[in-house]
Amino acid sequence: MNSPLSDTPISSGSLVRHRTRSVRIVHGSRVVMVGGDAPILVQSMTNTDTADAIATAIQVKELARAGSEVVRITVNSPEAAAAVPAVREQLDRMDVDVPLVGDFHYNGHQLLTQYPACADALSKYRINPGNVGQGAKRDTQFAQMIEVACKHQKPVRIGVNWGSLDQALLARVMDENAKRAHPWTAQAVMYEALVTSALENARRAEELGLPGDMIILSCKVSGVQDLIAVYRELARRCDYPLHLGLTEAGMGSKGIVASTAALSVLLQEGIGDTIRISLTPEPGGDRTREVIVAQEILQTMGLRKFTPMVIACPGCGRTTSTVFQELADRIQTYLRDQMPIWKGTYPGVEAMNVAVMGCIVNGPGESKHANIGISLPGTGESPAAPVFVDGEKTVTLRGERIAEEFQSIVLDYVKNRYGRN
Ligand code: SF4
Repeated sequence: MNSPLSDTPISSGSLVRHRTRSVRIVHGSRVVMVGGDAPILVQSMTNTDTADAIATAIQVKELARAGSEVVRITVNSPEAAAAVPAVREQLDRMDVDVPLVGDFHYNGHQLLTQYPACADALSKYRINPGNVGQGAKRDTQFAQMIEVACKHQKPVRIGVNWGSLDQALLARVMDENAKRAHPWTAQAVMYEALVTSALENARRAEELGLPGDMIILSCKVSGVQDLIAVYRELARRCDYPLHLGLTEAGMGSKGIVASTAALSVLLQEGIGDTIRISLTPEPGGDRTREVIVAQEILQTMGLRKFTPMVIACPGCGRTTSTVFQELADRIQTYLRDQMPIWKGTYPGVEAMNVAVMGCIVNGPGESKHANIGISLPGTGESPAAPVFVDGEKTVTLRGERIAEEFQSIVLDYVKNRYGRN
């Protein structure tokens, strides 16, 4: 019998980024790059009434503190447009320099022209070409928004959404399809309409004077396979940076799983320069969840590093206590809470791995692979928890204060390994 050993090494999963232009999003001295060689950016969106400047500024601050690198706010009314400069000022007073993006639908042409301070305070505009206006007004109103963007030198995201697809364009694509000898399916026609809407509006914006390196595109849909198909085609046909996100992803685990499934496929193919996870929050839930999920997708795929990762086993019949679950949760929360401070004080700490394991089966092995690991005793094991630092067993913890002592070991490790001399 031949040996099952292969002659060639197995290579790890790798990706080549789809080449796109670079777009600069600027607020004061803060410059955030999208596309080109820039890291894939995490975005989020507020759900406050923007007219309430204080509430909006507080939520923007929370999202930025969680790691959102750009935050979008709704600008849907004269009151909201009038409040945008106050939101910006409040953020600046709180030393929050995250760029703000204004989300415009229906009346964006009026708000951007009638509230120049709003146009100026925003760092980017999102324009939905399906909600710019009907008939002859559409071109004029789109042109008005692009003129404001040119005047204030603000980049624009042309954000197509299939829930508000330009119906005139869809009708045109359907008419052209009807003339084909072998007409496409309704699904293929829809994909084509979405991609065409983004590309035609980008071209129109360039004709109106907006430089190509001030345009980002998105084509959001709510189905995983639809999103993958549309973005593959968009990436094939243009070099604008692409904003990825599954629209209306849903609540809880369904929203997270659907977003992760869709985005991972595209990101692995090198498609996507900025992402947002559109989760529906639980009533009273934390809006920052969407930022954490976005970061976790990028970090678990090895595309970026944001926060030290906790590797924890799922537990099984070999451990019947909740001690290791509580310790894993405690350490994960501790690490995330420290990151806003550690980011500046301990550069590189975001690459650290901490293992919290439930028993001897995989505990010591997994702990040795992490920067720091602890293997808690499973059922029937002696009540001792060996700790491993950089692959070496350094101490064995016992008693009631294992959690406190392990957290203190983690902090010492961070100080020694990542502290500036
Ligand atoms: S490490 Fe131990 S407790 Fe955890 S899943 Fe594996 S066998 Fe179960």
